[in-house]
Amino acid sequence: MSATLIHGKPLAERIRSEVAAEVRAIGRIGLVTVLVGDDPSSEVYIRLKHKAAVEAGFDTTDLRLPADIAQDELLAKLAELSESDDVDALLVQLPLPDHLDEERVIRTVAPAKDVDGFHPLNAGELYLGRPAIVSATPRGVMALLEEHHVELDGARAVVIGRSDIVGKPMAHLLLQANATVTVCHSHTRDLYRHTLEAEVLVVAAGIPALVTPDMVAERAVVVDVGMNRTAAGLVGDVEAGVAEIAGAITPVPGGVGPMTIACLLENAVRCARYRRGDLAYPS
Ligand code: NAP
Repeated sequence: MSATLIHGKPLAERIRSEVAAEVRAIGRIGLVTVLVGDDPSSEVYIRLKHKAAVEAGFDTTDLRLPADIAQDELLAKLAELSESDDVDALLVQLPLPDHLDEERVIRTVAPAKDVDGFHPLNAGELYLGRPAIVSATPRGVMALLEEHHVELDGARAVVIGRSDIVGKPMAHLLLQANATVTVCHSHTRDLYRHTLEAEVLVVAAGIPALVTPDMVAERAVVVDVGMNRTAAGLVGDVEAGVAEIAGAITPVPGGVGPMTIACLLENAVRCARYRRGDLAYPS
């Protein structure tokens, strides 16, 4: 392997201990997570988030609601939590069961408590170049790139994936760092033509081995956001052989994953600061 491995754990641990110090300084930060139903992957994610939040000293509530909860009942609960003085940060684990309207659910979370940064107001502030609360995974990627001194100003960056959770906010953050950004998706023709141009390639498609060594420029920095559960275990979207070509690459697991949780906790501290008035939420 010629590529440098960009591990997420060391930076994530540093961020988590900084967060713990901030929680101690603030006194109490109330974080509520809401899990609807019993999707096994969601259970795992919620467990990991809770463990990290408890370790950092948050006052956490792990609210479990039945898979068949009525839409109105869920919205009423979220509105109540959004208004509660005990709640600084609120997270609804996605995806939701099919009968629930995800967009309405996201809109019901108070924007300044929206620890995931999915509310249209938070997405809009990012789009306008005034980021308030930003989705944790792309923030984690940016922190990793900065930690590893990856030059973004003027760089050609390619993002594969345009989801509201990863791809779009990722592209906006790279754009704000003055990269020249191309966003690819399932309708992109000749994906390799774009990826071969990339000095920084962020892959978030959810397709194992989507990116093969012949699609990557020598010395490119490759960030593999993919997390795919396969018979061979947890794998990313980037084939292992890419590490022979790239200059640096994030492993899966142990790359972006740990950063997502660390940045989520940072977001929760930010929510608490908004509520205390230490920071002004855009209005
Ligand atoms: P998603 O909502 O399913 O979006 C996938 C994106 O990939 C879509 O924009 C889709 O294009 C695009 N795509 C699909 N097939 C493609 C192809 N053949 N060529 C180019 N683009 C293609 O997924 P997501 O929520 O963004 O997550 C993406 C991956 O990241 C998943 O593996 C997920 O598990 C992982 N993830 C990891 C973390 C972490 O902490 N490491 C956090 C979040 C997500 P269209 O828009 O045209 O459909």
